[in-house]
Amino acid sequence: MAGKTTPVMKQHADAKSAHPDCVVFFRLGDFYEMFGDDAVLVAKVLDLTLTSRNKGKPDEIPMAGVPHHAAHGYIARLLAQGHKVAICEQMADPSTVKGIVPREVVRVITPGTWSAEEQLDRGSNNWLCALEFEEEGVGVALLDLSTAELMAAVVPDLAAALSEMGRAAPREILLSDGPWSAGVAEALQEITHGATVRGDRCISKAEARQALAGVEVGGVESLAARAAARALLFARECFRGRPFPVFRVAVWNPSGVLGLDRAAQRHLELTESTVGDKKATLLFVIDKTGSPGGARLLRRRLLAPLTDVAQIRRRLDQVEAFVQNPTIRQDVQKALGRIGDLERLVVRGTLGEASPKDLGNVRRGLMAASEVFETLSGISDPESREALRLGGDVDLVDDLRQLLSQALVERPPAQVKEGAVFCQGFDAELDELSELRLSGSERMTALEQKLREETQISNLRVKFTRVFGWYVEVSRTHAKKAPAEWRRKQTVANGERFTLERLESLAEEVDSADVRFRARELELLSQLSAQLAEAAQRIHQLTAKISAIDVAAALAETASEFDYCRPDVDESDELEIIEGRHPVVEQLAAQGRFVPNDVTLRVRKEHLWLLSGPNMAGKSTFLRQVALTIILAQMGSYVPAKKARIGVADRVLSRVGASDNLAGGESTFMVEMRETASILRCATSRSFVILDEIGRGTSTFDGLAIAWAVAEHLDEVVSCRALFATHYHELTEFADKSSTAANYCVTAREHAGEVVFLHRVVKGAASRSYGVAVAQLAGLPESVLARARALLSSLESGREDQGGPHVVHLGGEAPQLPLFSGAKVSSAEVEILSTLRELDPDRLTGIEALQLLHQWSRRFKGSA
Ligand code: ADP
Repeated sequence: MAGKTTPVMKQHADAKSAHPDCVVFFRLGDFYEMFGDDAVLVAKVLDLTLTSRNKGKPDEIPMAGVPHHAAHGYIARLLAQGHKVAICEQMADPSTVKGIVPREVVRVITPGTWSAEEQLDRGSNNWLCALEFEEEGVGVALLDLSTAELMAAVVPDLAAALSEMGRAAPREILLSDGPWSAGVAEALQEITHGATVRGDRCISKAEARQALAGVEVGGVESLAARAAARALLFARECFRGRPFPVFRVAVWNPSGVLGLDRAAQRHLELTESTVGDKKATLLFVIDKTGSPGGARLLRRRLLAPLTDVAQIRRRLDQVEAFVQNPTIRQDVQKALGRIGDLERLVVRGTLGEASPKDLGNVRRGLMAASEVFETLSGISDPESREALRLGGDVDLVDDLRQLLSQALVERPPAQVKEGAVFCQGFDAELDELSELRLSGSERMTALEQKLREETQISNLRVKFTRVFGWYVEVSRTHAKKAPAEWRRKQTVANGERFTLERLESLAEEVDSADVRFRARELELLSQLSAQLAEAAQRIHQLTAKISAIDVAAALAETASEFDYCRPDVDESDELEIIEGRHPVVEQLAAQGRFVPNDVTLRVRKEHLWLLSGPNMAGKSTFLRQVALTIILAQMGSYVPAKKARIGVADRVLSRVGASDNLAGGESTFMVEMRETASILRCATSRSFVILDEIGRGTSTFDGLAIAWAVAEHLDEVVSCRALFATHYHELTEFADKSSTAANYCVTAREHAGEVVFLHRVVKGAASRSYGVAVAQLAGLPESVLARARALLSSLESGREDQGGPHVVHLGGEAPQLPLFSGAKVSSAEVEILSTLRELDPDRLTGIEALQLLHQWSRRFKGSA
């Protein structure tokens, strides 16, 4: 044994030294073994038993292993911890090799380059990203090896790159070796929820040029192309030179896409909710797609709405076509549900990794695709036909579908050895071998019968095992009757096993038929795979069409089910939504009782709404529903409203107050201010901004001052459509002073000491905050509530006019109101002050005033 160990361990050492940064999964029979430091590492992180090879010998080495069929789960865990894995395979069948089996690293696995079927999320792309930082901008490339797509772009700066990363959520990011700091890597990890971030080596122009051969992303000089080259080179290294397909190459123009800063992506809960509940996202509500390709496209569109009006309208036309044809839509959706993941299947086929089952699924998908188009041909109105481009011929890749139909059985197995793959009549040679195989086993049965007769042993059996091959088994009692020319092979508990010449020659025929049958099967399979690979580009084009149809049908389904309307999207800088709703809140928290609201914003007329109202009234909900409506409209979807007219926005910017976003280590006020700063920097007059309770993270004076200044800047300098929710009552004075800002409030009513939220947005400032009433709802003790009411009352009557915003100060460094500095306020004082506040002197006669004064004086003196 010891003599054989060395060459194997030499193979391992070679693999490891070629891939020092990887955990080497070294194939030994049915296991992947890890040795040395790798073994120690995996034993710890994967919780495996650490053993050792060549125990007690000078070359003893730590060892740990996993069964090869269970390797994917372990690999996934290693990747999640930031490790790379190199797979070192046996390059020949050990049973056919004399001496040592050749071994080679066939694949390096990293999160962004791994597309094992069970590790992929059906509804999102598995992006590997490369970023190229330069003075003039950032090159961004996204490569999805599971769908064979490559996208590249140049964005102006780090913030824009981060926002693209937020949209794409890549699994792995490669950074050029330039001056990127640890801060960048951290920010990238945060926004992508833990992508693996790697600093990558320097790439020469020649290398880049070579990597880009046949890939159209502009000259090697362009940042986009350099990023693309980096992604491709990395993937090639991982594939160890084995070619992989790239069917779609696109250079996208970030300015053609609605800017969604990363705060907006998060606050608006487009694809992820802040509490982690998938159901509470816009994507979940609108995703009624049937195919994984459709689901991925919908997600991408949601995160990258358009700014081009014509293009948006074309998408809306498609949705409308399906809204107008509900019966056909339902039939199309049924067929779409059977498409499967054609896009990814085709890639596996091209890589030669498609199983018989995969090929069966390609057939099923192609059949469903032609059903989709056949059903669509039932649409007769010219507008819908035009919108869905039903005029021209669609390549349904019928030739391949027919071939697969003729070739494969109804349900092909996942593995070749698991059962029949091909239909009878598809291949004459295979049929013949199958005959031979079957007749072989019939002939075995006949031989068994014959031997029984000859020997008069009634329980004689002709049997087969993998280890011993064919033999005759005779029970112990009859063993003596075995003819002399039979050769004894083995003695078992119940009897004896023999072989004889007639059996051997028949066995050889049967075996060779079997071997030849399997070989022919494999040959036919690889031919089919090759034909699939040849048709791959065509199938990819077909799936692109199908995915777009899927998205349009899904959005139409959503629109019909939830009663959305087609938005009127134009170039204006106006926004008008009649009876708008929040698409997610109306499905979840406020199902069946959502109160719709209107909004109208016009740049330089009335573009800024200051929205006040008690906590829990629905301010945030209203702000977000308007932002979501814009996003939906610009992605080409119907919107949750009775009527909507939307002048396209270039960006949707959002900032939600500190109290609503307490996670993270940085001072919340710092985060808040940084996000606000970035909004003020990025916003243009075409942007749409929502600011929810800014300034909360600091003392009242500061907060109000900042909120005031920010509102002023948005109103006067940026002049864009904006909604600004605030609990600073004083800010309402701002709107009174500005001609382009207006006060609105979300109404609530106090009834028998309890607050009832009406969730209705009306013109005017909220009269009071109802904070105490909300506190009562939340169950504060009655004594505390009573005291709070008394304090509130005095506070409100203690306001002073300071010329600017009116401030009620509740702490901090400013002088305190007398009420907090010592004596308690008497109930008479409270009563008098509150009457004074309600009182309208213009409506009092002189006598009445005098009477009041007397009354108060008595009360005051009485209680003092
Ligand atoms: P605020 O920002 O004013 O504190 P939110 O927007 O967070 O209030 O709303 C609080 C809750 O009120 C929401 O979770 C939702 O259940 C409900 N709500 C908000 N707006 C509406 C509405 N228009 N119709 C019905 N319920 C609503």
